[in-house]
Amino acid sequence: MPARKRVNSSGTTLAIETSCDETSVALVRQGAILVSLVSSQVSIHAEYGGVVPELATREHLRNLPPLVQTACARADCPPAALSAIAATQGPGLPNALMIGLKTAQGLAFALERPFYGIHHHEAHLYSAWIDGTPPRADLDILPPHVSLIVSGGHTLLVHVPSPLHHIVLGSTLDDAAGECFDKTAKLLGLPYPGGPVIDQLAEGGQPDAFDFPRPLRDDATLDFSFSGLKTAVRYFLRDHPDLTADPSALRDLCASVQAAIVDVLVTKTVRAARRCAVRCITASGGVVGNRLLRRELAAAADRLGCTLRLAAGPFCSDNAAMVAILADHLWRHGAPATDCDAEPRPGWDLSDVRPTSPATARSARADPGPSGCSPCSSRS
Ligand code: ADP
Ligand code: MG
Repeated sequence: MPARKRVNSSGTTLAIETSCDETSVALVRQGAILVSLVSSQVSIHAEYGGVVPELATREHLRNLPPLVQTACARADCPPAALSAIAATQGPGLPNALMIGLKTAQGLAFALERPFYGIHHHEAHLYSAWIDGTPPRADLDILPPHVSLIVSGGHTLLVHVPSPLHHIVLGSTLDDAAGECFDKTAKLLGLPYPGGPVIDQLAEGGQPDAFDFPRPLRDDATLDFSFSGLKTAVRYFLRDHPDLTADPSALRDLCASVQAAIVDVLVTKTVRAARRCAVRCITASGGVVGNRLLRRELAAAADRLGCTLRLAAGPFCSDNAAMVAILADHLWRHGAPATDCDAEPRPGWDLSDVRPTSPATARSARADPGPSGCSPCSSRS
């Protein structure tokens, strides 16, 4: 089924995000967010200690229609006045993606508007550029940068030499950083999602109280691995079964695990910035809500002489505003629309969005050795 041709309208893009456990709808016009609504399912999944895909699908089905209606009403933009429709096409939970994608495609088809299927990580990546009141982002002129994307399901380092041009430098070989926070919290008997709880408890603890491994930190690649850290916590608790009953020791444990995760994330991000010779670093995704990570990235960027853009609070975890910002940019630049019958892509790789030549990608991933340092590295 071909995408429909563009018609005159309000220049407003509506986007839907349902890749995991947040149902979200946003409207964006000329790079400015008119409305951004997020209905979180955290309290529903908390009971089970993690996201239950069937429940997520059911909640998206229930919440999405009223959210679309409310978003259009608040932006004073009836569906007929929309110019483009977008949805997260992947990666994510297959059935959860299906709800948002098919709703958006149905709207686009009925209204005869172009539809854009957006990659969830590409949307996270550009969320770091949203700021101001009302919030907006201009993706036309961005400096070359390295971007850390850290969420519950993914950990990625990406080189962005120019807007919409991505080279994936490294990703996690097993658990994501957010998953490591969540699984550690579960082992400690703390509620889901564990990241914010560990962040809170760690504030009052000693980060060097316990020595946890920093997996792959000193490895030359830009890949990550967090499952060994989670296992180290498991064995530590087996050997110290009474430790979590002591509130002070629990705070020390949270601070020590958090320090290990943040150390790996920051060390690898700095290495990527040096290797790509960029003077700008960005970070996005739910884990960027972590206060230690924000502080340590700021200190590292300062040492490197790089500017730092961190996604703002409301745009860290899953939201449709970041999807709408990217789709609005694509629509305004006449990017080809996605077919209205395209299927969800649960395992979509960011490298497949706008593929770079394999040779460029290989050279970006390679360790250049001591002589390959960028101007940034001279100030570290
Ligand atoms: P996903 O796209 O995988 O659903 P999100 O981008 O919504 O992930 O981020 C959710 C993840 O972020 C969870 O793993 C959660 O524990 C983590 N997270 C949220 N806030 C914090 C925090 N302050 N510290 C550490 N992790 C956090
Ligand atoms: Mg996400």
